[in-house]
Amino acid sequence: MTPKQQTYELLANTIIKGLKKRQMEGYYAPDKEAAVQLALSLMPAGSSIAWGGSMSLSESGLMAALSPDTYDIIDRDKASSPEEREALKARIVNADYFLMSTNAITMDGELINIDGHGTRLSFLIYGPKHVIVLAGMNKVAPDRAAAEARARNLASPANSVRLHRNTPCALTGRCQDCYSPDCICSQFVYTRRSSIPGRIKVILVGEELGY
Ligand code: SF4
Repeated sequence: MTPKQQTYELLANTIIKGLKKRQMEGYYAPDKEAAVQLALSLMPAGSSIAWGGSMSLSESGLMAALSPDTYDIIDRDKASSPEEREALKARIVNADYFLMSTNAITMDGELINIDGHGTRLSFLIYGPKHVIVLAGMNKVAPDRAAAEARARNLASPANSVRLHRNTPCALTGRCQDCYSPDCICSQFVYTRRSSIPGRIKVILVGEELGY
């Protein structure tokens, strides 16, 4: 194990203690392969599963590992009409598992996220019976201020570029606190604790995933 890997594991153990006091469950996986196996082991066969947009989920291989033979998969992007998409969103409220990453996590276990429409964060806050958050250690920030700075200056500009948004950050690479029609920063959510013990499960992965 390299010193970097050792440090990731030590830091993850610190974060997991912070998660525990917030009634969230924390896990550490040394690499993305272990993270995928861990996530699958948390979700019994037959569970209904949905997710929020996330590069970490796809880069880890978790999305590819979700078999429709094993799970009841609720995929909003498969909707053939706006009405069907809305119906699928309504199903997600009662899903067994909702998968997502986080834009940042503090060393004390607080999750910090920014959304444009708020769909992903609405399901983090309420609805699905379980939420599994998969986060590479690159998402860790020392405290809330640093985590918000990370979300605004790294995650949101990168997402603006990925989504081809007409925003200042997509041109300059840094947040300029815009109010443009294409702005993806409408909702800032700080998950300080889970009111339902164990509903939110955070898998920290000892490598870089997403942004
Ligand atoms: S420039 Fe606008 S869209 Fe880009 S990160 Fe800042 S607030 Fe978000």
